Amino acid sequence: MSRLGSTCSELNIATRPNLFRDVRWPHRRLSKVDSPKALPFLPETTWSLIHDLHFDWPEEWPDMLTNPAETDHPDIFKRLDEALPKIPNLKVFSCTIPFDPPRRTLNILFEYTAVQHLRMIDTPLTKTPLLNEPHKVEALTLVPVAEAMRMGEGPFNGKMREMQYFSRPYRQQHRGVAMWFAGEIYLKDFRHVKYLQVSLQFVWHLGSLSSEPWPELETLILTGTCGAKNIGSMIDVVYTMPKLRDLRILLAKKIGHGPDDDRMSDHHIRKPTILSSIKSLSLSNSYGTEIFLRNASSVERLSISAILKHPQIPIGMKSSELDKALKDLEISGGNKSLKKIRLMTEDELTVAFFRKLGQLCPNLEFVEIERCGYQEGEVGFEWSDYGEVFSEYRYLQELRIGIPFADCEEDCTAHSDHKECIRSDRQDFAIHLASWVPTLLYVGFEYRTRTGKYRKEDRWLDYEIIRSSKRIHLTELAPTWYEIPEVWERTLLHD
Ligand SMILES: [Zn+2]
Repeated sequence: MSRLGSTCSELNIATRPNLFRDVRWPHRRLSKVDSPKALPFLPETTWSLIHDLHFDWPEEWPDMLTNPAETDHPDIFKRLDEALPKIPNLKVFSCTIPFDPPRRTLNILFEYTAVQHLRMIDTPLTKTPLLNEPHKVEALTLVPVAEAMRMGEGPFNGKMREMQYFSRPYRQQHRGVAMWFAGEIYLKDFRHVKYLQVSLQFVWHLGSLSSEPWPELETLILTGTCGAKNIGSMIDVVYTMPKLRDLRILLAKKIGHGPDDDRMSDHHIRKPTILSSIKSLSLSNSYGTEIFLRNASSVERLSISAILKHPQIPIGMKSSELDKALKDLEISGGNKSLKKIRLMTEDELTVAFFRKLGQLCPNLEFVEIERCGYQEGEVGFEWSDYGEVFSEYRYLQELRIGIPFADCEEDCTAHSDHKECIRSDRQDFAIHLASWVPTLLYVGFEYRTRTGKYRKEDRWLDYEIIRSSKRIHLTELAPTWYEIPEVWERTLLHD
């Protein structure tokens, strides 16, 4: 886009609003040639176009922790502080720095800008912030240093594959270290937000989340590791959030612990009926799912993902656990309201499972059942068996399934490359399914691909179905993935 914009002045003017809507500063490329001291802020003519501003400390700059004499960060923040009040349309401010965000900058942000979403990503919070009241901020995201959450065996954040990312001194110092003190103060100051994403690394225990009400909160996302310290009940937490509709418990298991159940049986005083107001529920198989599924009576979107922290590899549910989850959902009656479902399993998927799913959840529009650690093999069933089963899903629009295909041998000569081998049967099967399921708009199949010398990943091959009076055509879609904490919106995958 920037290359396009520089080709002629009209194009430059036309592309500028998009080009500067979402900006990163200090700029990595410039930071290599200039010293931080000499680095100017973005040109003033662009300020009115900025909507999202990412303040990212370049990886090649010192941490300050290691060599305070070399850092010019006060200067950098001075330039930022001067510019902030003159960025009239700023809505999102993200901060990734190796030290606590300067209090002055935050206060300028709250007092003189219209910022609605504050995001602290990969940034240590160790000091008490003493903030001016951040009334206008509607959304808060707190991701601790190097929190490398992984959902399933698919793609995950590329920079976290590199050892040098974790070897940076500030990440070594703060990775996995509890930041309860500062975290609790942030949570207290932002009690009025509508959206909260927070890692349990910032939370003393669940009880401290429910100590005061969250009157406006609509979306709660929890990341990090659950462990013995996180005592308290999620039910009590939800009780303090009367407007909550989207609950995502994206927690990983602590090494050496079994799945952590919600401890409501020991501590709860309230009834879990509060879960009946949740419309969108995302759970991890590292945390007990039963209490949620048995009470989510109005749920419209449900995902249960396998989640662990890198370098551990998440393990999906067994087929018996899948069956149990569906039974629990039937108890609440949420199976009737459910329109979208995403599940991850470790076991082979069968026609019988899909038949049961369709009968139990008759209103499904979106179905994605992923096999963690996809394996090739014999389909095991006739294509028409699948066609028949899915033709009973009356509202099905999008289907993604990790069923086995008998893929080619490594030295296949019938196809030009590995991707062509993957396409061959899947393409034919997509047409076949589309012919059985008239409502179907998109279809995807899983495969496994090598992404490094010792690394393999699960991927999806997705098609859009185009129907004409005579025949069904397919358009292959660009690969996508779910970037935590997103469990429903996919982003393009750039390898
Ligand atoms: Zn082949």
